[in-house]
Amino acid sequence: MAGNTPRVGVLALQGDVREHLAVLRGLGADAQPVRRAEELAAVEGLVLPGGESSVIDKLARAFGLFDPIRAAIADGMPMYGTCAGLILLADRIDGAITGQQTFGGIDARVARNVFGSQTASFETELEVPVLGDPPVHAVFIRAPAVVEWGPDAAPLATLADGRVVAIEQGALLGTAFHPESTGETRFHRRFLDHVAARRGIHAPAL
Ligand code: GLN
Repeated sequence: MAGNTPRVGVLALQGDVREHLAVLRGLGADAQPVRRAEELAAVEGLVLPGGESSVIDKLARAFGLFDPIRAAIADGMPMYGTCAGLILLADRIDGAITGQQTFGGIDARVARNVFGSQTASFETELEVPVLGDPPVHAVFIRAPAVVEWGPDAAPLATLADGRVVAIEQGALLGTAFHPESTGETRFHRRFLDHVAARRGIHAPAL
């Protein structure tokens, strides 16, 4: 890894990988797709994209990435999951298909497809106190929500109906919506801050 440039990965098995790579590169990171354990070993942080969590789970096992990702989480590697990625970071899920597993790491229960069927997508302005102003323009696509969480997990954003849609535990960050598709960069910057903090240096001036 060269100098202060954070070298991070986007899990590239399925889902909106390109959008995340573009946001991370726009913030000055050296962002690369990760499909193999060797590629995971070469990065300092990992984004888990939106897509279909049961498919990403299955492919992660087929590609020999499931256990290495779990080990990286246990080792403190910063990760940021959007939508399906949030599901994959939750210790417990509601609405899993038979045999579906998660990497886990965030002490929370996440309910899949909680806003309705395939077509239940919506957008809203979301207050996220840790990010300050302006509110986040949040796009939800067949989204999950956090329905319960433990004492080490901190909700970062809540819908008007009380459902938690962003959560953080240590260096693990998850959102039920898709900042990567709206030009919102503050969650990715927060993820890169976690990466810098783990190195014990200040975030490079991006
Ligand atoms: N409904 C999908 C799942 O359960 C998530 C949708 C998304 O990532 N946009 O995995």
